[in-house]
Amino acid sequence: MVAGEIAHGERAHALLSASGAHRWLHCPPSARLESTLPDTESEAAKRGTLAHEISELKLQKAFFGLKAAKFNSELKKKQKHELYEPVIEEHTNAYLDYIQSLVHSFPTPPHIAVERKLDLTEYIPEGFGTSDCIVIGAGRLHIIDYKNGSGVPVPAEDNPQMKLYALGAYKAFAMWFPIQEIHIAIVQPKVWNNPSEWSLPVEDLLAWGESIKPIAQQAFAGEGAYSVGSHCGFCRAKATCRARVEHLLEAGTAAPKKPPLIGWDEVGEVLKKADGIVSWYNDLKKLALAEALKGGDVPGWKVVEGRGGREYVDLDKAFAYLKEQGIDDSILFKRQPLTLPQLEDALTKKVYKELLVEPGHVVSRPGAPALAQIEDKRPAYNPQVKPEDVFSTAPEQS
Ligand code: SF4
Repeated sequence: MVAGEIAHGERAHALLSASGAHRWLHCPPSARLESTLPDTESEAAKRGTLAHEISELKLQKAFFGLKAAKFNSELKKKQKHELYEPVIEEHTNAYLDYIQSLVHSFPTPPHIAVERKLDLTEYIPEGFGTSDCIVIGAGRLHIIDYKNGSGVPVPAEDNPQMKLYALGAYKAFAMWFPIQEIHIAIVQPKVWNNPSEWSLPVEDLLAWGESIKPIAQQAFAGEGAYSVGSHCGFCRAKATCRARVEHLLEAGTAAPKKPPLIGWDEVGEVLKKADGIVSWYNDLKKLALAEALKGGDVPGWKVVEGRGGREYVDLDKAFAYLKEQGIDDSILFKRQPLTLPQLEDALTKKVYKELLVEPGHVVSRPGAPALAQIEDKRPAYNPQVKPEDVFSTAPEQS
């Protein structure tokens, strides 16, 4: 057991939350606009909360002397949650392993704080945030965050949420511990085998904190310009925000120029402007359907019955009857191998590696080439494929 602290309780959200900083730093008025819209927690968010609670229990046991009997009874309660999946254990163990190896790398036991609420008011009006795990020792402040999502990779580099936690932690602990370097790690086991890590000197962090103060003031006041970008995907206003609608629909007006076919010089601009148009359209349609189902009027649209399907009244009874009628199992059931990700979940990462990866039964194939904006953090694709394998038709050059 090491010196440290663990806090508990519900995670509240500030108007300018650290987790939303990526959005409100780009689009300051989004924070006030969002606060006028209902906040519904997605299933993915609920699953994330459960994974965080399980991680916290594991940290309590590893570092704060939580007795095995209490740990087991608390864990059992969490495992009864309707969203619990066994693979959560493996993912939260990856988080625990990372923190354990970090803690053991210090010459003397570091200070550990778990689920620590941090005061951010020096930088953000009424700002606070809750950091998953803070480890301090040997002149270093480590901020470690667990992300349960699989859809969007969250890199540690220049991550504003993590930098805000680091500022809050620095302000809370600098009086007690000498801190020269900030280390940030994001453990996102569904996306990366190894955590994403990044570090910066304290001076750079403090300078960044100063630089965001005017933006935070603007955001708190609901002022500033609406700015459309990839951050809109995380905004509650993403479907109906006028700035976004106008930006997306302008995409169509950017194309017509003199030659009937657009050239490569225009393709990049049109694609950039139209980025997000498909998901925005689907979000808006979903919202309009909900409104129409509630009895609201969405001019020009109505609700119709979608394509129906067939289903067994009682699968067991139906199959038992078919068997009685002499239908063989080979007709009723299809034997199918599990996919590699399913098998990895079923076997656990360790056994999967021992039985499949190490004997050479699994090879990694490169992903298909995908077009990404120049700011994308991934390295540029190393083309092993011929362009004609990817493109069937290409715009004519004018
Ligand atoms: S959808 Fe985008 S532009 Fe509109 S408020 Fe949200 S972040 Fe800003």
